[in-house]
Amino acid sequence: MTDFTATRALFDLPGGIVYLDGNSLGPLPRAAAARVAQAVTQEWGEMLITGWNKAGWMAQPARLGDRIGALIGAPEGTVVLGDTLSIKVYQALAAALALRPERRVILSDTGNFPTDLYMAEGLARLMAQGHVVKTAPPEDVADHIDDTVAVLMLTEVDYRTGRRHDLPALTAQAHDAGALAVWDLAHSAGALPVDVTGGAADFAVGCTYKFLNGGPGAPAFIYVAPKHADVADPALQGWLGHAAPFAFDSDYRAGRGIERMRVGTPPVIQMAALETALDVWDGVDMAALRARSVELSELFIAEVAARCPDLALASPRDPAQRGSQVSFRFEQGYAAMQALIARGVIGDFRAPDIMRFGITPLYTSEADILRAAEVLGDVLDGRLWDDPAYLVRAAVT
Ligand SMILES: *Cc1c(COP(=O)(O)O)cnc(C)c1O
Repeated sequence: MTDFTATRALFDLPGGIVYLDGNSLGPLPRAAAARVAQAVTQEWGEMLITGWNKAGWMAQPARLGDRIGALIGAPEGTVVLGDTLSIKVYQALAAALALRPERRVILSDTGNFPTDLYMAEGLARLMAQGHVVKTAPPEDVADHIDDTVAVLMLTEVDYRTGRRHDLPALTAQAHDAGALAVWDLAHSAGALPVDVTGGAADFAVGCTYKFLNGGPGAPAFIYVAPKHADVADPALQGWLGHAAPFAFDSDYRAGRGIERMRVGTPPVIQMAALETALDVWDGVDMAALRARSVELSELFIAEVAARCPDLALASPRDPAQRGSQVSFRFEQGYAAMQALIARGVIGDFRAPDIMRFGITPLYTSEADILRAAEVLGDVLDGRLWDDPAYLVRAAVT
């Protein structure tokens, strides 16, 4: 069994705060500051350029990729880190489309995160071969999988509502129709058990700064199923994805397997922080994490229902249909979230009316959940959100 009191002690959480926004930005692992300082002073500072070899910087994207692979059911050598998630969505989608050259439809859902849809539309336009991005309501997407679909591109867990798609079932349906499946695991990796191998995903991508706690600006990851790894066109032909980067060939030759999905120079200092975040996951049993997440989420939903009759649950009521967040609809949600944050309970807001709370067992206790529900009850009961100061929208909500 995983000891969640022990994992909590591995984070540096400010006192007096209940942090329910780890679905957006995970907190600081205690070991990160010293490790980053070491990377800066002893590696960059003293080794200078020799750090690429001596400190193993060049191998980091694949080495840490394997550690993420262990959390998403990917075998060694099938995950690599780099760039941002938007870029990795583009790359995975382009590679998948190239494997279905006779088809023109990219199928997604209306709940997908905007950047995923933007990247798909931009890619379709650039390809100029008549590709179209079709979106269906999330609950109906299965009905739109047919033999025109080249790629089914979905985010497993909806960033607004926490609704969870059935990854293995939809992937199987896509395969039956002759399509490929690209999964975005932004709200899945580190949030719940994921099995890209068992679920037969063709490509998967995700970020490391949300539930994985890699810090703001931490690199994204990409998984390519072994059967595609040596045939997938990496689309972004960067020098570090070349078969022999230091041959400085003027012609591109894709590297072996997942290495070809690398693009350019990795963010070394950011990776040092991510490494400490991944250390926290050593020994965490994902089934235990999931059970604890469901337990805390159910407690939060019950407490909020009892205290806040004005809030409508926006997340599925059935835990099996949810990721690891709980969302409520409230017209004054932005102001209410500001009032909550002013009282030490941090969640976030997503337009037009969603109050989001990430449930992260690694560092969130039952006492935190009870406290958050109590403060939320006070904010709503006392109309504490009705304050002009809470209506001013910040750049990041
Ligand atoms: C958070 C998130 C992103 C963010 O992409 P970045 O390039 O890292 O800014 C993209 N897609 C989904 C589904 C997300 O949840």
